[in-house]
Amino acid sequence: MGRILIVEDESRISAFLEKGLQANGFTTTVLRDGRDAAQMILGNDFDLVILDLGLPGKDGFMVLEELRGQGATTPVIILTARDEVTDKVAGLESGADDYVTKPFRFEELLARVRARLRTVGAAVDTEALLKCREVTLNLRTRRAQVDDHVVELSSREFILAETFFRHPDQVMSREQLLNHVWGYDYDPGSNIVDVYVGYLRKKLGEGLIETVRGIGYRLKI
Ligand code: CA
Repeated sequence: MGRILIVEDESRISAFLEKGLQANGFTTTVLRDGRDAAQMILGNDFDLVILDLGLPGKDGFMVLEELRGQGATTPVIILTARDEVTDKVAGLESGADDYVTKPFRFEELLARVRARLRTVGAAVDTEALLKCREVTLNLRTRRAQVDDHVVELSSREFILAETFFRHPDQVMSREQLLNHVWGYDYDPGSNIVDVYVGYLRKKLGEGLIETVRGIGYRLKI
């Protein structure tokens, strides 16, 4: 599993990132200031850094420059505000490996984190199969299997299924699921969770996910 440093001064975003990454098996450390970021990265064994550009102390560009200037090759994904194309270009030129535009969905960030870690060959998802009753999720192919039948899931459906399978028999609230699968900028009044649970039931079996009245859902084991 990977160790990830999150350099982000907005606590709402860092908390959202931490929660999602930890739920996916990563270890996280949060730094709210850019001043000591480069030294912290150089002095520790992080597998990846998520770096906001607008930071107190030292901005993300300066952190990146310092880091690459000292020869660190740790993969860096930068977070930029919407549509700031020049920031993205400058970020990639200063040695970032990828960028994610705010506001972002957690699944988008997670896909980029995984892609980066695969590139450097770190061990991610050592457990490639998640099983519950007659259903198997394959984390490498992103496909599901019910008994012997392969079932195609959309990427959103897969992330929702994966979230349930990583927390078997645990009641997950709509808000938890919404945060994890759709992201912090999603309207909490939306019924999209219920709609997608409906899709999963149809594809993976009606009895798999149980409704816990007034709270949310639970994967039945
Ligand atoms: Ca910021």
